[in-house]
Amino acid sequence: MAGEPQADCLFCKIVAGEVPATIVRETPTTVAFRDINPQAPTHVLVIPKVHYANARELAAAEPAVAGDVLREAGEVAADEKVDATGYRIVFNTGPGAGQTVFHAHAHVLGGRDLQRLV
Ligand code: IMP
Repeated sequence: MAGEPQADCLFCKIVAGEVPATIVRETPTTVAFRDINPQAPTHVLVIPKVHYANARELAAAEPAVAGDVLREAGEVAADEKVDATGYRIVFNTGPGAGQTVFHAHAHVLGGRDLQRLV
């Protein structure tokens, strides 16, 4: 059921502590951990503890938790001291956009020059 842990979901396993991760922040509704394949000096993923396939589904079903994810992304940037120089928050949504893990997550990227995308 939407929102419930999925047995085959890597990020649900990280939430449950069944797969190790370098956790940098945790709240009652979110976990933030370092990406295993960092694309920038700061590359942290912020996920909701509840399982939704992508940001749209999360925001539609649990908008307060979607807000928590966004707030935590900003707090990660501040903790990592990339807020002054600039950082990017990315939600890849769908395979065509590069989404590979179908549990909603925000990438927080910073610490290097990030080329403008749009
Ligand atoms: P997506 O491609 O937007 O779905 O992002 C998934 C991200 O999860 C990628 O940047 C991967 O490097 C990252 N990733 C995959 N497995 C792990 C893991 O076990 N720990 C931390 N990050 C992971």
